[in-house]
Amino acid sequence: MKLVLLGTSSAVPTLTRGLSCTALIREGDVFLFDCGEGTQLQLMKSGVKRSRIHSIFIGHLHGDHLYGIAGLLSTLHLDGREAPLNVFGPEGLRVFLNAAFRTPDLHFTFKLTVQEFPRGYRGRVLDEEEFYVDALPLDHSIFCLGWRFQEKPKPGIFNLERAQELGIPRGPLYGKLQHGEKIKLDDGRIITPDMVLGEARRGKSVAYCLDTQFSERSIKLAEQCTALIHETTFGPDAVEMARERKHSTMEDAARVAKEAGAQQLIATHFSSRYDGRQLAEIRDQARSVFENITTGRDLLEIDI
Ligand SMILES: [Zn+2]
Ligand SMILES: [Zn+2]
Repeated sequence: MKLVLLGTSSAVPTLTRGLSCTALIREGDVFLFDCGEGTQLQLMKSGVKRSRIHSIFIGHLHGDHLYGIAGLLSTLHLDGREAPLNVFGPEGLRVFLNAAFRTPDLHFTFKLTVQEFPRGYRGRVLDEEEFYVDALPLDHSIFCLGWRFQEKPKPGIFNLERAQELGIPRGPLYGKLQHGEKIKLDDGRIITPDMVLGEARRGKSVAYCLDTQFSERSIKLAEQCTALIHETTFGPDAVEMARERKHSTMEDAARVAKEAGAQQLIATHFSSRYDGRQLAEIRDQARSVFENITTGRDLLEIDI
């Protein structure tokens, strides 16, 4: 999987940072988390294909996470897109879209499915063959959902030597075992998949926590994840402001990463008061809590 940070600013864009949007790319499919103003341009600059957008997840209805979606949907319509598109977000998202398109039926060249979740919602929002996405409310000034994209476990590695020892003939029986089916050999012996497969491999996972103050729920969402993308609006100079506005400092995010046992923290959603040098200093301080922090910047690509 690959993550591409498309916008890393909070509240207002700056000359070097666009508004919140992160693309997760898995086997060619693109999943957008938030869709701030300017997302379309950032998609083009990054080379992430808008035609491959599978779903868009809007965590909350603050404009810096939302105002890019109307323009993006218009462009997909002009593209003549045919593939269906899912949009997930809190209650009120449909009102915004209806107002933007001045129509209650949201008619496009493609089938748009808008799924809204009521205040306090928690649960699985998408469940496909190889992955699922869960939502959990965070702790922000308005109802805000965090997301966890989770690959399902992959079957263990096929042990060819063991299969030969057991006298299983090469061919379709191997495939059946790899797909979790038990087989019966000509001599009547039953072979179960665990006899030839290694341990199932854990799927990768990404937790997305924007916007929120430090919260146990973020820790739950990020438990043992491959990558935690967490807002870090403020530095240690503005702890009070972070608490008042229900945002996080870099140190808050580092605590979440540490307590969740995350493999890495990707920091984003920075106040425009900080330049790159200041952010590097803030990151270095937060490393006393959690070592593996990447300071996000626009168009940064991270393989996970
Ligand atoms: Zn925000
Ligand atoms: Zn917000």
